[in-house]
Amino acid sequence: MKPLSVKNQASDVVIIGAGIVGLTLAVRLHLEGKTVCLIDAVGPASGASYGNAGFLSRGSIFPPVSRSDLWRLPKYLLDPASPLTIRPAYLPDLVPWGMRLIAATRPKRLEQIIAALASLSRDAISSYAPLLSAAAAEELVDVRGSLIVCRTSVTLDQKTRLIPGWRENGIAAFRIDRAKARELEPALSDDIAGAIYLPDNGRCISPGALGRRFAAYLEANGGRMVIAKANSVSSYKGSWLVQTSGGNFEAPQVVVAAGRWSDELLAPFDVTIPLASERGYHLMLPEAGVELSRPCVMAEPFFAATPMIDGLRLAGTVEFAHANAPMNPKRADNLFDLARRYLPGLSREGATRWMGVRPSFPDALPAIGEVSGKAGLFYSFGHQHVGLTLAASSAKLLAELMLNRRPGIDPAPFDLDRFSRGRQPKDII
Ligand SMILES: Cc1cc2nc3c(=O)[nH]c(=O)nc-3n(C[C@H](O)[C@H](O)[C@H](O)COP(=O)(O)OP(=O)(O)OC[C@H]3O[C@@H](n4cnc5c(N)ncnc54)[C@H](O)[C@@H]3O)c2cc1C
Repeated sequence: MKPLSVKNQASDVVIIGAGIVGLTLAVRLHLEGKTVCLIDAVGPASGASYGNAGFLSRGSIFPPVSRSDLWRLPKYLLDPASPLTIRPAYLPDLVPWGMRLIAATRPKRLEQIIAALASLSRDAISSYAPLLSAAAAEELVDVRGSLIVCRTSVTLDQKTRLIPGWRENGIAAFRIDRAKARELEPALSDDIAGAIYLPDNGRCISPGALGRRFAAYLEANGGRMVIAKANSVSSYKGSWLVQTSGGNFEAPQVVVAAGRWSDELLAPFDVTIPLASERGYHLMLPEAGVELSRPCVMAEPFFAATPMIDGLRLAGTVEFAHANAPMNPKRADNLFDLARRYLPGLSREGATRWMGVRPSFPDALPAIGEVSGKAGLFYSFGHQHVGLTLAASSAKLLAELMLNRRPGIDPAPFDLDRFSRGRQPKDII
């Protein structure tokens, strides 16, 4: 047999996937003195991490699909324009995932999920600080709070009922009336009912630029950014080998952070990975004609409008479909019609559309940890609607595990073994 040609002997860690999850981990490990090699099939922040709503939402501690949504699924199935849709071809894949989702909505389990999301969310924004400072990217992130804008008092009352849950988890939240909401954001329509104000939330004004900034920082400081598709991960001479379209890379520690595509790379390792493709869309409005100063989540139906460096970004909706299926441009266009109800005067001059794939687990928790029985093989993916928000705190947690330090939060809820019958998540604390 021909001996394998192996590059990159100098790296301590190889990370597969340069989305925001892989990038923040790479910078974090670099700051800890590790030499890091990042591998991405397309380039830094080219997947979901490019086109998301840029919302740093510490308040997103409640799973996005609730028990009440479940009963509406048959209706959604028939309506490709609804805020949540399922492409019929994806149904066979989604049924087992949906069964797990139903189990995750049990009240006791829901409580644990909210507590776990809150634990990661607590330092979500502050964990970015050292990374932004290292990469001289502070100007890409600000914290001016966010609004959940409601057109009807019924929705406003529903959202108001979430306030105690936020406050119990250390997240400030206030119900404000129409006048106060319009004082904060004068572009909002004068027929809204009111809003919920979450002052501790933030935003990134260009998620793509943030990713490129992190990658450039790494490359300028002894790390590597390799553009190649990883085809496999295997053990090799007591270490790990990543075979890619651009050669083979070896390191004592490998991290799979390939977003929605992570399960393919971990398939040989006897782990259950119920990951679904929860696709979302954006419509970028370079000449929006109205100004916002913070992310506004429009509640009926749920989507975000975030002011960014290059215009106003409308983003959201859920479409369960195969990751690589063609996009449905109407779903991006619908965002404009929905947004105009909240922002009269909105213009779609020069609008561009985009679709990205959220990597989503049925329990809404990401997977962060080390593969059972495979020392040195780590993972971080499955951040569903909040990957930008939770990337830096996930990086902090995984770096602590990789460096054999006592983690600041309990990692057990994020262990992949939670999906494997008969296995218990590793109890580290
Ligand atoms: C419309 C929309 C709006 C959103 N809004 C927000 C928001 O406002 N706030 C928030 O916190 N989150 C938001 N999200 C979610 C967030 O974007 C994702 O959770 C996050 O980007 C996931 O990051 P990731 O690094 O895991 O995956 P990705 O960004 O998808 O990155 C994965 C990377 O892995 C690479 N890759 C895959 N397979 C391989 C392979 N075999 N070899 C090499 N490379 C590979 C891909 O090229 C890609 O670059 C939104 C998502 C969508 C779709």
